[in-house]
Amino acid sequence: MTKLLEVSGLRTEFQTAAAPVRVVDGIDVSLSPGETLGIVGESGSGKSVTSLSIMGLLPEGQAAVAGGDIRLNGQSLTRMTESEMRKIRGNKIAMIFQEPMTALNPVFKIGRQLEEAIRQHSDKSRRAARKEAIDLLSDVGISMPEQMINVYPHQLSGGMRQRVMIAMAMACNPEVLIADEPTTALDVTIQAQILDLMRKLQRERGTAIMLITHDLGVIAEMCDRVSVMYAGQIVEEGDVETLFREPKHPYTIGLMNSLPQFSGGQERLYSIPGQVPQPADYPAGCRFAPRCPSRMEVCETSEPGSFDFGDGHRCKCHLYRGESR
Ligand code: SF4
Ligand code: MG
Repeated sequence: MTKLLEVSGLRTEFQTAAAPVRVVDGIDVSLSPGETLGIVGESGSGKSVTSLSIMGLLPEGQAAVAGGDIRLNGQSLTRMTESEMRKIRGNKIAMIFQEPMTALNPVFKIGRQLEEAIRQHSDKSRRAARKEAIDLLSDVGISMPEQMINVYPHQLSGGMRQRVMIAMAMACNPEVLIADEPTTALDVTIQAQILDLMRKLQRERGTAIMLITHDLGVIAEMCDRVSVMYAGQIVEEGDVETLFREPKHPYTIGLMNSLPQFSGGQERLYSIPGQVPQPADYPAGCRFAPRCPSRMEVCETSEPGSFDFGDGHRCKCHLYRGESR
């Protein structure tokens, strides 16, 4: 299938007083029309920096794309000026975050914010934009939308605010929606409703979704394919079914063992010992080695290559030398 979004060899660096640190180190991901790709990993693995790199929203003067390419419909985004990128954001790629309060303006009613989002991307009259705002609120499952356009963000619950954010993101009919931990701050029932909503919008509009989460359970429910990210790199990728049936990388296996439904009813959930290393302290060999139960001598000194198991299932680990195709 033709690729809608293609990220190849992306490297993103943060400036520090000492030397630049590479927070994203050579990742490849791609997204086809209508597909949902999950990016999963613990916090500090570089997932959000990847999404901000794609959106052209890295903090200016502090971080920058240092290598690789990001292409949307074959067009390179890394070479675009800020004003060209502004047209892409919203029109073609939209993003929702964990905490919608940071993206909504607290001093304006939500109807006005939606109308502005709509009018930025079309030449609709205020009146037509208002009507569309009401329709969008209704599409995202907000009841009494005619009344709800007159409330302020702080008058809404977290789940309702996330619905409004999704409506804002959908206002311009993006080809790609990047959702960064969209349900992490919400309780389980609301989380399920928001995921349902994203699935419904995807079905109706064919939007491709890049879903970033630390939660493999969310990936299992939502995604076609998944990339597992650790310490700025992708350590395993494949279609969701294969990855859940046959996880290869010890890190993926660790993430799975820490899922309630895979822990065999044990009361205390397993958690992977230790933490994701800081970018400035990445180990020389395999970056997961200090935490890996299967660590071998070679892991400490030599970075593993990526081994291919067919059908897009790949894993970056020395355990599979000689085993893959
Ligand atoms: Fe573990 Fe070695 Fe594989 Fe790294 S390369 S995940 S340390 S077995
Ligand atoms: Mg994050």
